[in-house]
Amino acid sequence: MIPFVNLTFQRNAYKNELEQAEKAVFDSGNFIGGPFVAELEQKLADYCQIEHVETCGSGTEALTIALMALGIQPGDEVIVPDFTFIAPAECAAILGGIPKFADIDAETLQISPKSVESLITEKTRGIIAVDLFGQCAPYRELREIANRHGLWILEDSAQAFGASVAQSPHLEPRRACTFGDIAITSFYPSKPLGCYGDGGAIFTSNAELARKVRQIANHGSSEHYLHEIVGMNSRLDAIQAAVLNVKFAHFEEELCKRRENAAKYDVFFADIEGIQPQRIAKGNTSTYAQYTLLVDDRSAFIEKLKKAEIPYCIHYPMALHCQPCFGELSHAASAADNLNCASENATLNCATGNATLNCAEVASTKAISLPVCAFTDVDTIIEKLRNVL
Ligand SMILES: *Cc1c(COP(=O)(O)O)cnc(C)c1O
Repeated sequence: MIPFVNLTFQRNAYKNELEQAEKAVFDSGNFIGGPFVAELEQKLADYCQIEHVETCGSGTEALTIALMALGIQPGDEVIVPDFTFIAPAECAAILGGIPKFADIDAETLQISPKSVESLITEKTRGIIAVDLFGQCAPYRELREIANRHGLWILEDSAQAFGASVAQSPHLEPRRACTFGDIAITSFYPSKPLGCYGDGGAIFTSNAELARKVRQIANHGSSEHYLHEIVGMNSRLDAIQAAVLNVKFAHFEEELCKRRENAAKYDVFFADIEGIQPQRIAKGNTSTYAQYTLLVDDRSAFIEKLKKAEIPYCIHYPMALHCQPCFGELSHAASAADNLNCASENATLNCATGNATLNCAEVASTKAISLPVCAFTDVDTIIEKLRNVL
């Protein structure tokens, strides 16, 4: 069976470099922080052209720390996308915030600025935008809304570190992780830039936010054994930093390969009815964390993938407001009354313009992702697809 993300081929390709880097950490006796972590943080900052990068324990912890640094208080409303991984809504909720679920664009699958604006109340403090499947959210529109209402933006770029957005003709494209007041990414093994365990990073150009992030992640302390605030422990191990330093040297090359793979799929699916790849917005490049399709008859498509022995993932099978853990939120409850949370209902269609239909729910019935990493043999997958479609 073809693996969904081929980490074994990747390790074999960089084996000598990885083994040397791993040995250097074990021999150094320096397992937390230290030069390997500092080297990685500098590389990430240079790549994104941003002043402050702090690595931490995971993408989820990065979100939690960022929300704490932004000063979230119990009862604060935070707007999150309705169609994404649970972490943004979960992190807001665990800190006492109230996630409000914004609908998505039916084609790019990114958070809809129009829906964001419709959810703003006097209790709204900020927006968590997710760079879903590897392309940036529509930050120009989101920033305009945030400025008008005095809100912060937290950019969840767990899937999109390495993506870019075209600026004006005289400027270099701007990288993901630079659009939020504060941004995060994840180094979970299957992300585009992944380590061999958990890891994450926080990005900001705001020195005060950076100071708070460092303090929160280090037990609320800026000076040894003096704890100014209640914080936590969140840090990247030296061994993970060493692995990431090696993989980072090959990252641009891997991104090119992912884009080539995605382009092959694009050509193939262009001729197939009832199957639509996620639209990449004009000016965006994607990391293709996933190659995601919207398929009208997903169950039939899955049967064909099984027959051809092609692996797939469903990101995500449920709109977040339908998740049982959010059932008690009054917003979720009222939304669930209006909207049809039964995911079997595949006849919903955003294009009808019916106000009670939610594009996030439609996407949850149609979305399916195919393997696209730099070590995936997409030609073979397309050959297999040709035989079954
Ligand atoms: C993976 C992911 C996270 C969480 O990252 P972890 O490192 O697994 O904690 C957060 N948000 C999104 C959108 C993700 O895809």
